[in-house]
Amino acid sequence: MALSPQTNTTLERVAQVLRDSDNVVIAGHVSPDGDCVGSQLALMHALRGLGKTVTCTKAKDDALDAGICYLPGADEIVYAGSFKGRVGAFVAVDVPNADRMMPAQWKLHEKAAVTITVDHHEVPECVAEYNYVDPDSTSASLLVWKLAGLLGQQTKVVAQCAYTGLMTDSGSFRNQNTNVESFQLAAQMLEAGADPNYAATSVFQSRSMASVKLQGLVVDRLTFACDGQFAISWLNQEDFDRLGATKADAENMIDILRSIQGVRVACMLREQDTGVRGSYRAKDHTDVRAMAMKHHGGGHRAAAGFTTRKPMDLAVSRLIAEWEEFFAAEAAEGKAGESAADRA
Ligand code: 5GP
Ligand code: MN
Repeated sequence: MALSPQTNTTLERVAQVLRDSDNVVIAGHVSPDGDCVGSQLALMHALRGLGKTVTCTKAKDDALDAGICYLPGADEIVYAGSFKGRVGAFVAVDVPNADRMMPAQWKLHEKAAVTITVDHHEVPECVAEYNYVDPDSTSASLLVWKLAGLLGQQTKVVAQCAYTGLMTDSGSFRNQNTNVESFQLAAQMLEAGADPNYAATSVFQSRSMASVKLQGLVVDRLTFACDGQFAISWLNQEDFDRLGATKADAENMIDILRSIQGVRVACMLREQDTGVRGSYRAKDHTDVRAMAMKHHGGGHRAAAGFTTRKPMDLAVSRLIAEWEEFFAAEAAEGKAGESAADRA
């Protein structure tokens, strides 16, 4: 555990503030994933266990990804812009700043009596009164699980939600952020009643046919650069419209690109209304977050994202050029990425 410099509180203090609060609003980030929703719902159930009135909000009035809808309480998450109730405490989980909260949730942050952030994203600045940020934590839901322990609420439903966040953010315990604590706390969650097979089949084994067809396009368009170390592919709006696919249907494409032998960094681009949305994943120690920040994005060292306003073809060529420059500089310095084989 290495808390970020922005951390100005303890989980014990956060638990106390929540015990003393009511009408709690729990917010997440735009494009909510398993960790975001798992963290929100785990905290919601923990606080409801204490008799609190709790609402989970979403940044946009969009449907949640089908895979995470199985989580108990997912159907109760409301668009923040439609929420007109009191905000006694505002808790942001898995999201450290206003940008990714989006204006609708930020308005609720501003009208709250007290604001709290519980997160694992490293950012230069935090925005809440109480900020607890642990970039070494595998998932935000793992921090919520610890918080639920302090609240005496490590119940079965809390465990299922927290486990789902841990499973998705750790890439099923395979990503670089997986550590001893991920397994120790996963074991605690299972002891409390979480069902890992239910989580895995609901999230990963419920693909639509549209998703499988998108995969065909992604593979056809796959482009390698930097001697096969960089793999990039893309999907445009027309693909989604023609196949009747949703953005959730494209969620696992990046993992397919990363899984290819020799690829160190994978990039998946998807056209959406706000521009071209990019996802980066690294298979070694390469810092993709730094590369995403070139386009005002962010995330983690091995998993990051960004949005660019460039048209798709220019985005592809620009990103390839950036990575060619990166790998050339790395080769010149003589420190190529440590491969899994090097580590073994
Ligand atoms: P994904 O590729 O799954 O959308 O995102 C990977 C990681 O990067 C997640 O932790 C996500 O929160 C973060 N991330 C994705 N897009 C952005 C972005 O535009 N800005 C920032 N700050 N983080 C992002
Ligand atoms: Mn997360």
